[in-house]
Amino acid sequence: MPLPALLLVEDDPVLGPLIAELLEPDYRVVLAASGQEGLHRGLTGAWDVMVIDRGLPGLDGIGLIGALRAKGIATPILILTALGDPDEKVRGLDAGANDYVTKPFDARELAARLRALTRTFAPPQVTVPIGGWELDPGARLVRSLYGQTVTLTAKEAELLAALATEPGRVFTRDELLSRYFSPTDQPGVIDTYVHHLRRKISKSVVRTVHGLGYQIGDPE
Ligand code: CA
Repeated sequence: MPLPALLLVEDDPVLGPLIAELLEPDYRVVLAASGQEGLHRGLTGAWDVMVIDRGLPGLDGIGLIGALRAKGIATPILILTALGDPDEKVRGLDAGANDYVTKPFDARELAARLRALTRTFAPPQVTVPIGGWELDPGARLVRSLYGQTVTLTAKEAELLAALATEPGRVFTRDELLSRYFSPTDQPGVIDTYVHHLRRKISKSVVRTVHGLGYQIGDPE
C-alpha cells in the first residue's frame, strides 16, 4: 500500500519541516510554504489529506480552505490554529476544514486526528428484504423465513438485488438489460433469468407486470 499523500501548508521555516518530519513515517508529505503555493498544489495534486496553517502570508489558511472548497476539492482538511481563540476554530471549520488542532500541539494528537480523518470503514454487510425472506447479494444467497438458503449465480443475485432494492418499482426488460447485461444480449435473457429465480426460490419471488416488465414479489 502506498503511503497516503499529505499536503502541508505551513510558512514557519522551523515548524514546517518539523511537522513534515513528524508525519513522514506515515504519509508522503509535500510542504508548501505559502497560501498561494498551497492553493496551486491543492488544486493540481491528488491528496488524501491536508494540514493547513491558519496564519499564512498573503492568502491565509481560511482563504485557502475556502478557495479549495469553492473549486470542489473535497479532501479532508485539518487546520492548525492559535491556542485559546475559539473564533479561529469556528472560522476554520466554517470555511470547510474538517478538524483543527491548536498550536502548540501534541504530536500524538495531530497523528491521531489525521488517522481519524483518513480512516475508511468497510461497508457493513447489507441484506435486502424480499417479503419475509432476505437476499444477501455479497454472499449470493437468499434466506427463507425459516433460515433455509438458496444459492444464486452472480447474475441472478445482481438481477434480484436490483429488483429488491426498489420494491415499489416496475423495471422494464430493456432497462434491466442495459443496466445488468451486455448490449448484445436479447431482452429474452431477462425472462430466462426470472425463470431461473422462480424455479430456485419460488414462483412468486418476481412478479410479472403485464405490458411493463418485472417487479420484486413476495416468496412463499
Ligand atoms: Ca504561520
